[in-house]
Amino acid sequence: MPELLLATSNSGKAAEYRWLLRDIGYHIVTLAEQGIKESVEERGNSYEQNAQTKAIAYAQLSGLTTLADDSGLEVDALHGEPGIYSARFAGENASDSDKTQALLTKLAGIPWNKRTARFKCVIAIATAKAPVKLCHGECQGIISLEVSGQGGFGYDPVFYLPQFGKTMAELPSEVKNKISHRARAAKKARQVLQQLKT
Ligand code: IMP
Repeated sequence: MPELLLATSNSGKAAEYRWLLRDIGYHIVTLAEQGIKESVEERGNSYEQNAQTKAIAYAQLSGLTTLADDSGLEVDALHGEPGIYSARFAGENASDSDKTQALLTKLAGIPWNKRTARFKCVIAIATAKAPVKLCHGECQGIISLEVSGQGGFGYDPVFYLPQFGKTMAELPSEVKNKISHRARAAKKARQVLQQLKT
């Protein structure tokens, strides 16, 4: 079975990819399992640039087919922020709960109908033999008025999905993994990975 390196140190993302790619005929390995300690900085000004830079760098370090993603939350009332800076929205080492609180504070007083937002995910797949492939996914929602739910990670407890009447963190993981930005991008990535095997 060919190996696929999941180039992320975010344990929430890694768990989701393990599930989303569980049956595509690749043996999934992580950076830690490969003994790769280098961290590749996200210095680009788009999700695409950041995902591509990470995928190429880790493919070169490992010699393996490599999947990296860059993702973020775009809030309309904040003109698309935090976007590519979602991980650092409340400072470098802020916890998920610091980030969700910072977001709720910034949106204080903003009415429900102006709290629209979307998660975006761009996956880059790099190999030694083919040009980098990019796969996009997004998921629309509303930033809730308070934190709710224990599942998922990051901004999930404040990302409300009207069609479920729940935040992303209140959904069972099987449901998040069907409708999320990452699930949608991964569906396309599965096709790319199948083609790379042939
Ligand atoms: P990066 O892709 O590692 O730059 O991080 C993106 C940041 O966006 C994460 O640290 C989370 O805060 C947020 N994010 C990305 N995807 C999700 C998700 O599925 N749920 C909640 N937050 C997410």
